[in-house]
Amino acid sequence: MADVDKTADVVVVGAGCSGLRAARDLAAAGLDVVVLEARDRVGGRVFTEVTEGGAVIDQGGQWIGPTQGHLQALADEFDVDTFPTYVAGANVEVRDGQRFEFTGLVPTSDPGAAADTVAALLELDLLAQEVSPTSPWTHPDAAALDARTLADWTMEAVDSPGARNLVSTAVLAVFGCEPVELSLLYALAYAHSGGSLSSLIRTTGGAQERRFAGGAQQLAIRLAEPLGDRVVLDAPVVAIADDSDSVIVTARRARPDGSRTDWTVRCARVVVAMPPAVQSRIAFDPPLPGARDQLAQHAPMGSVTKVHAVYDRPFWREDGLSGQLVADRGALRAVFDDSPEDGAHGVLLGFIAGHADRALEAVGPDGRRAVALDELARAFGPRAASPVEFVEQRWSAEPFTRGGPVACFGPGLLTSAGPALRAPVGRVHWAGTETAEAWTGYIDGALSSGTRAACEVIAAEGRGRP
Ligand SMILES: Cc1cc2nc3c(=O)[nH]c(=O)nc-3n(C[C@H](O)[C@H](O)[C@H](O)COP(=O)(O)OP(=O)(O)OC[C@H]3O[C@@H](n4cnc5c(N)ncnc54)[C@H](O)[C@@H]3O)c2cc1C
Repeated sequence: MADVDKTADVVVVGAGCSGLRAARDLAAAGLDVVVLEARDRVGGRVFTEVTEGGAVIDQGGQWIGPTQGHLQALADEFDVDTFPTYVAGANVEVRDGQRFEFTGLVPTSDPGAAADTVAALLELDLLAQEVSPTSPWTHPDAAALDARTLADWTMEAVDSPGARNLVSTAVLAVFGCEPVELSLLYALAYAHSGGSLSSLIRTTGGAQERRFAGGAQQLAIRLAEPLGDRVVLDAPVVAIADDSDSVIVTARRARPDGSRTDWTVRCARVVVAMPPAVQSRIAFDPPLPGARDQLAQHAPMGSVTKVHAVYDRPFWREDGLSGQLVADRGALRAVFDDSPEDGAHGVLLGFIAGHADRALEAVGPDGRRAVALDELARAFGPRAASPVEFVEQRWSAEPFTRGGPVACFGPGLLTSAGPALRAPVGRVHWAGTETAEAWTGYIDGALSSGTRAACEVIAAEGRGRP
């Protein structure tokens, strides 16, 4: 047996919400857990920063909505308050370069497109109800649904180009990818896992309903606190070797001189808690079964940059505007009011996603800032062009996330390799929001996936439930 630096019952790889939740449940069952995290912080895709001017900015996951019981229970336990997303007033639509105002979920400047969009959402919601979020490949027409992209469906089922554009805007905001990149079966299963596509895109009554006072990352930090030095930061795992009696996990830790050295932990079981595309960079010995490896190779992350423009006050509210924008083209297809609850300053949050995110790589941060401010000014007036601060978080450039907000499964993947998503491989178990059975892609799903993986390990090790 190789010399190792540390031993533990279980190693959790990744200190995002799923890994931390798994670690907490495993520790509660009396197992000795070590969490290895590549970054110098916990939280993964949940990351709160305070700007120089004092604005609290959630660079990643931030909203909580109805039926997200795992997340709400954690907020209750840690006494973290939530407050409603600001929605009072009119929303702005920019279509064909022209600016309109509307209320409700769907822009109304083109009544035909509005009617088609409502019909398309309803049809997608009905289709989604027929697809199991846990085993979509069991649908009687799974192969046909998985052979098509969401773009194929939209071309066939939605007449008006305006409505197709609005569906694209919704898909970009939810998945960070274009409809042409998404399997229809996957999109339906994903929507059903959160109730319906409508519930994913709604603010009030949907996934964007409320925010956390002080930011979302504090939940991850509070989860990590009791684990103390069992959470090892700045320790990217590079290899997992399962010799069927135990597992050796190798992380590449920093030395004081800045160089890196391999550091190994021997354990009985491993929970890998990260998106498939990130997990695929770890070397497994023996190699993963073909289906699991293929799944990881064919599930790229969406492409998203989150931008925040900070103003001395939420001036758009004085103009009767909600701060929400829906645009049919450009960089910012969806914008929200992200000001603090007391409105002490104003914040507009925009998503650059899909093709636009990739295209704007070349212009750099200053170029993206100029494009974003131009589009905000077109929607909310000239004051929007001069924020006191502007920050961006480019998730596609983060090596330990590789994009976001979530993995986007393309055609054919679920029906050929879907069952491999959660199935343990020897002593290796899988967590992460991509493996969640409800609220896939969301913080709530990350938490429940961590508990599911912990339960698998506890059962396999013959311990009591957490
Ligand atoms: C821009 C954006 C907006 C979002 N908005 C929302 C929202 O409003 N509401 C919501 O519910 N969800 C939202 N999400 C999604 C939500 O953030 C995720 O679903 C959730 O945080 C995923 O948690 P996880 O533990 O599954 O994965 P992650 O958070 O990705 O955790 C994986 C962890 O593994 C670490 N890691 C990677 N490689 C290695 C390695 N080799 N060794 C060790 N560690 C490694 C990573 O650093 C990371 O900490 C958003 C995400 C993004 C990016």
